Amino acid sequence: MTGLMAGKRGLILGVANDHSIAWGIAKSLHDHGAELAFTYQGDALGRRVKPLAASLGSDIVIPCDVEDIASVDALFAALDERFTDGIDFVVHAIGFSDKAQLKGRYVDVTSRENFSRTMVISCFSFTEIAQRAAKRMRRGGSMLTLTYGGSTRIMPNYNVMGVAKAALEASVRYLAGDLGPEGIRVNALSAGPMRTLAGAGIADARLMFNHQRAHAPLRRTVTLEEVGGSAVYLLSDLSGGVTGEVHFVDSGYNIISMPRPDVLQA
Ligand code: NAD
Repeated sequence: MTGLMAGKRGLILGVANDHSIAWGIAKSLHDHGAELAFTYQGDALGRRVKPLAASLGSDIVIPCDVEDIASVDALFAALDERFTDGIDFVVHAIGFSDKAQLKGRYVDVTSRENFSRTMVISCFSFTEIAQRAAKRMRRGGSMLTLTYGGSTRIMPNYNVMGVAKAALEASVRYLAGDLGPEGIRVNALSAGPMRTLAGAGIADARLMFNHQRAHAPLRRTVTLEEVGGSAVYLLSDLSGGVTGEVHFVDSGYNIISMPRPDVLQA
């Protein structure tokens, strides 16, 4: 505990279980003194999220399905009753696409319906959350969303999620430009592949793990603690001059161009 986040209150969207990236971030924020509110999607996940939140001393656990804008408004109304003095940060760690379309060629499998649904849940929901969170950040604040390198480079099977992440990263820049004058910073954390529910929805995710381990400069995947630590940096005053950025926490995978010659020749 450093007290880096002492006196700061925030909202975490996207905990499904104790493997969730949002959970890793929540634990690190709690370790550094933050006070947290959580959301959950549906009653089944709520039964998992409530005890996790309680283990970090939080009884603020509110349902929210970002596909339903009334649910988003109800979330903020409920949050106002608990955090009456506003909030200091928000973490958006939400993504969804039809699993059947995260397999095969993007050009073949992508439907209009799932494209729209993926964009609303995985991209536009961050803008809708930011619109509401900004009104509650009276002392300035920091917003963070989660992205993946499939936004700028093609990854087999990542497909429409890559397109949504590209739009999400562009949203980060537009939101940062708009909210900067109010002292609100907006950034994205681009995590390497992690074993989560959402991660398991991508076909051949195992190959992405193996490729990362073989070729990333650090020769390994990243941990929830490492993602959590970088999130604390982006959400705390340590990164006070940083906004509109995509910050990679991926063992350096994003800097490589071709696979290692020794692996190719093996
Ligand atoms: P996860 O399955 O633990 O979390 C995804 C969350 O999104 C779940 O809590 C789920 O309830 C929520 N969600 C989906 N649809 C929703 C809706 N309509 N309303 C409200 N919540 C909804 O998986 P994760 O890997 O922790 O995913 C968190 C974020 O991290 C996602 O944006 C994902 O794209 C991103 N990310 C994941 C990886 C990875 O390898 N796992 C890598 C980089 C980025």
